[in-house]
Amino acid sequence: IKKIGILTSGGDAPGMNAAIRAATRSTIAAGREAVGILRGYQGMIDGEFLPLQSSDVSGILQLGGTMLKTARCKAFRTPEGRRKAGEQLKAAAIDAVIVIGGDGSFTGAWVMSQECDIPFVGIPATIDNDMYGTDYTIGYETALNSVVCAVDKIKDTARSHGRIFFIEVMGHEAGLLALNGGIACGAEVILIPESKAQHDELQKFLEKGYRDKESSGIVMVAEGDEAGGALHIAEQAQRDHPDLDVRISILGHIQRGGSPVARDRINATRMGIAAVDALLNDQKSIMIGLDNDRIVHVTFNKAVKMNHSIDTGLLEVHNLLNGM
Ligand code: ATP
Repeated sequence: IKKIGILTSGGDAPGMNAAIRAATRSTIAAGREAVGILRGYQGMIDGEFLPLQSSDVSGILQLGGTMLKTARCKAFRTPEGRRKAGEQLKAAAIDAVIVIGGDGSFTGAWVMSQECDIPFVGIPATIDNDMYGTDYTIGYETALNSVVCAVDKIKDTARSHGRIFFIEVMGHEAGLLALNGGIACGAEVILIPESKAQHDELQKFLEKGYRDKESSGIVMVAEGDEAGGALHIAEQAQRDHPDLDVRISILGHIQRGGSPVARDRINATRMGIAAVDALLNDQKSIMIGLDNDRIVHVTFNKAVKMNHSIDTGLLEVHNLLNGM
């Protein structure tokens, strides 16, 4: 392997830049060339390649987003699109690719690697922290801290007015951000897709807990909760309890942005170096993961097919503290 391409794909996550920096510099340190592929798979198809020197990745460690830009690319889902992407890589003499993204991005890499002889290695980056085979994904810690900062502020105003706030956090079908965010903020109720039983806790809180103990309350809602988003659940609660003062806040994309916290920078750096090491040791079609803070290799096959599970003990912790 002489030239390694690096791309970011799918949703952006704070810390992607730290991974780009580490992968670039460790590629150069190994005497190889690093090339940025702009806009994820779209840039691969269009041949948007940017040779990277060590100085090109200076000053990005602390920046949110991704200097390589990211995209969702429909054309890459077709054999024709991937064939074009393969031709562009060959023409640019890119021998191997590091994909920084989520499970969709790894599925794409896996499919392409079965059609051509270019090795791919993945680095998990998503604020949802929902990848199988790794305890951690880049961006999660920063997003969690952004949720905590935002909810703390909302709590001040909720308390002043005696209101119940339904706060929606990101996470697709995963509730980890809502669950840990709810624990860190002392939310009264946490609704996540992994546990239907939590809806009973909401009813108990609305009917009794709120009036007995509280003059305000926070209900954390994961966007993927099966009962619908915060808007839907809050409207239903207001209809059922017209006397309550219900408000809704959808945190949205502020959860994606911002300077990465130290943990995201450190882990992204370790994973960037590990991805280059893996490629130079003839590994392919694997994702770099962290298991008990140790670097591990997880096959794409497992990473994208197996479901991530949530630690239900965390829900018990929350319910215990809220007297449920
Ligand atoms: P996030 O967790 O933020 O959604 P992701 O990597 O899962 O990140 P996706 O939009 O699912 O984001 O996937 C990113 C890109 O990967 C897609 O736009 C597409 O180009 C490619 N991709 C996804 N699934 C496939 C597939 N089955 N075949 C080929 N390419 C795919």
